[in-house]
Amino acid sequence: MKETVTGESAHPAPPPAPGAELHPSLDFANSVVTLPGGRRIDLLGSPPDATRWLVERDLAPEDAQLWDFCAGKLRALRDQTRVLIAARIDGSPAAPAAVEALNDALTRVPTASLLHWDPIGGPYRAVSHPATQIVDHALAVLAADAAELLTTPDAERLTACGSPPCDRYLVRTHPRRHWCSVRCGDRARAARAYARRAQATAD
Ligand SMILES: [Zn+2]
Repeated sequence: MKETVTGESAHPAPPPAPGAELHPSLDFANSVVTLPGGRRIDLLGSPPDATRWLVERDLAPEDAQLWDFCAGKLRALRDQTRVLIAARIDGSPAAPAAVEALNDALTRVPTASLLHWDPIGGPYRAVSHPATQIVDHALAVLAADAAELLTTPDAERLTACGSPPCDRYLVRTHPRRHWCSVRCGDRARAARAYARRAQATAD
């Protein structure tokens, strides 16, 4: 089993991939990453990590406090967003469940004050818990951005990082650039040089 560490405290995550500055949903998809050695960093792995991730992107107020349940909802949409991005890159049909999850997040209106009926006190209206509202709002913003990313011309330049074991996505800024960070590019070049040397020794 792979070791998954949560948050940036244990191991610094790579800087945002190209395209993530324009598309928060790409940053969202990349909030889990596999590092050399098979270690995984999940920036949404715990409620405090998920809260920090949202606050840093202006998707939650400073004093927000997410629950386990909220962090789980974020991770679930993140995973479905990854499924959709992978399908777009492969040109394969998207999983209906992933499309449904995205649309569900997109159409959630967290401001509705719902009718409740107390057996003793009778009917009253109340909005959902603030943490749930914050998360639903963030999910709606991220889902809208993902829908945008998948349907705009930028989608043609979406690609998976070509430096294993990295599993982040990026919007290519150069036809030959297939990695998400300088660190991944250096590792890919080093691997190619090593393969060339091994080939030369074998010849
Ligand atoms: Zn990478």
